[in-house]
Amino acid sequence: MKEHRVKPIPNMDTAAYFGALADGRLMATHCGDCSHWTWPPRPVCSRCHGENLSLDTVRGTGAIYSWIVVHRSTTPDMMEYVPYTLALVRLDEQDDIYIPGRLLSDVEAFRGMRVQADPKKIGENIGDVIWKAIESDLPVSP
Ligand SMILES: [Zn+2]
Repeated sequence: MKEHRVKPIPNMDTAAYFGALADGRLMATHCGDCSHWTWPPRPVCSRCHGENLSLDTVRGTGAIYSWIVVHRSTTPDMMEYVPYTLALVRLDEQDDIYIPGRLLSDVEAFRGMRVQADPKKIGENIGDVIWKAIESDLPVSP
């Protein structure tokens, strides 16, 4: 089964980010002046508007902030995955950095679900974020 066919189109600000994902690393823009993390990658800090930025690896852990379940794909490429959950994950690095991605889990998504990024290569120098539940952090059923 193909893992993924819909691919982002990297630009000068995001090419290194998508390349890192293809190598299995999740990264975000980090400000050298105020330490703020910014995603998606961009040339200016979203807090201090400084330009002293670097693309740094993040831990890749976070909690689901919101999600949708896609029952009908709008593109033929994603038909084989429906239904699937598209989760917006708040990274542990900072309260206001969110990264979306498909959730691969046997467990239904819920707000606060602990997840781990599992970047996948989907093309030449292009990767995508897949989120997986951290099983050991799931609540125990009564
Ligand atoms: Zn800054």
